[in-house]
Amino acid sequence: MNIRSKAYFYILLYLTAVITPLIAVIIFNPETEEGFFDNLGMSFALLGFTILSLQFILSSRIKWFERPFGLDIILRFHRAMAIFAVFLLLIHPLLLSAGSRGFSLLYGLNVSPFIWTGRGVLILLLIIIFISMYRVTIRMDFQRWLRVHSTLAIIILLGGFIHSFFTGMDFEKFPMKVIWILLLAQALFFYIYHRKFRLKRLHRSVYQVVDVVQESHNVYTLKFQPSKGAEPLQYFPGQFHFITLHREENQPVEEHPFTISSSPSQKDIISSTIKFSGDFTSTIHKTKPGHKVLIDGAYGRFSYTLFPDENKLVFIAGGIGITPFRSMLHHMRDTHAEKEVRLIYSNRTQKDIVFLEELNELEKETFPNLKVTYFLSNPGENWKGQTGKLNGERIKELCESDFHSLSFYICGPPGMTDKLASELQRSGIHYSQIHLEKFSF
Ligand SMILES: Cc1cc2nc3c(=O)[nH]c(=O)nc-3n(C[C@H](O)[C@H](O)[C@H](O)COP(=O)(O)OP(=O)(O)OC[C@H]3O[C@@H](n4cnc5c(N)ncnc54)[C@H](O)[C@@H]3O)c2cc1C
Repeated sequence: MNIRSKAYFYILLYLTAVITPLIAVIIFNPETEEGFFDNLGMSFALLGFTILSLQFILSSRIKWFERPFGLDIILRFHRAMAIFAVFLLLIHPLLLSAGSRGFSLLYGLNVSPFIWTGRGVLILLLIIIFISMYRVTIRMDFQRWLRVHSTLAIIILLGGFIHSFFTGMDFEKFPMKVIWILLLAQALFFYIYHRKFRLKRLHRSVYQVVDVVQESHNVYTLKFQPSKGAEPLQYFPGQFHFITLHREENQPVEEHPFTISSSPSQKDIISSTIKFSGDFTSTIHKTKPGHKVLIDGAYGRFSYTLFPDENKLVFIAGGIGITPFRSMLHHMRDTHAEKEVRLIYSNRTQKDIVFLEELNELEKETFPNLKVTYFLSNPGENWKGQTGKLNGERIKELCESDFHSLSFYICGPPGMTDKLASELQRSGIHYSQIHLEKFSF
């Protein structure tokens, strides 16, 4: 099965899983004395809870499921489906109240513990959505958010199951009971898989830091090698992995996503090039050879090797967004890929440019046919390159006559990638010609 057919197959599988409980209710409970609002309310709950329980597979980084879409797309879908499910579940008690249950369902104190459980779950759902949407605004640290999110997710799953299983009229029939228990079981399996089995697998292929190279005033490259007997990581140039560094006791042990800045054509060593940007990354220079690393990867579809028909490429990098392009350019050189590449590399100041010498060397190579244009938004007096902010118009000017036939790869902070992608589309570039890697999920 090719990658596109796989994508359609998984979408179909997901949709089938989402509607199976609803269809099962129609088959097994065809005659109901409930009114319109009651039926609608229960259908919303059925659909909402099914979507919530499938959220666990979406966030568990299952490789075969991730491959056709890319992890970033799956995580964005996970977020959108969470909002949709919460909407359905919030409407559910309102519809039931408008039906035969009456509005005391919403505020009555003398209700069964299972109704109280349902109310608690709704409050937790509102909390989880609020902290996920406004994490940055309320200045919640990402690691703390992750811990709260996973704890609330499992409480919501169990609470939602208890509430629906013991109050839902639909679960009186045996087949419905089985479907509901299977739904819970798969969610628990993927929850445990992600937190336990996945980590066990990573511990079986431990890597070691073998070198730490300073690339600029605030950027370091860490080089890793698999420990003896460990499987080397298989990856496409441009993909990313999650790394967990085990260093001295006072250093944070956290899992973070970083592009693999090396190329798979370089055997044995893989690297990530990391810029100081927060609590964890600003300790990166304290990493030393010999430190242990867990590597989970590789993920993503930001690789020219996945789109072999594209031959004229424009790589657009903002700041540390150069890392996947470095990997791809090295790979093109080593595999003699006959590609025409224009790299447009934007930074604030000259000292922020990473891999300057390396890029100059790559420009002299036969493969790929590379031209690099640097942009600085805050140039010094001696700067002879392009200045100002990069935008769609300036990219068009640089690409000259064959602008509409090119393929664009954009990587950098989300604000920049989204803005440039929409400007390119407004200039007539089809979205299928644009590949994005945002350094945030
Ligand atoms: C696909 C991808 C590839 C990336 N490649 C690179 C790279 O090659 N070089 C580089 O310097 N940076 C890269 N980043 C960005 C890097 O992951 C963040 O800068 C880093 O995780 C910030 O952590 P911090 O604790 O230092 O900063 P914080 O201030 O704690 O975090 C800053 C932001 O980074 C994100 N973030 C933090 N921790 C995580 C996490 N564990 N998982 C997911 N997102 C998180 C959050 O959006 C957070 O708001 C990449 C990000 C992604 C998503």
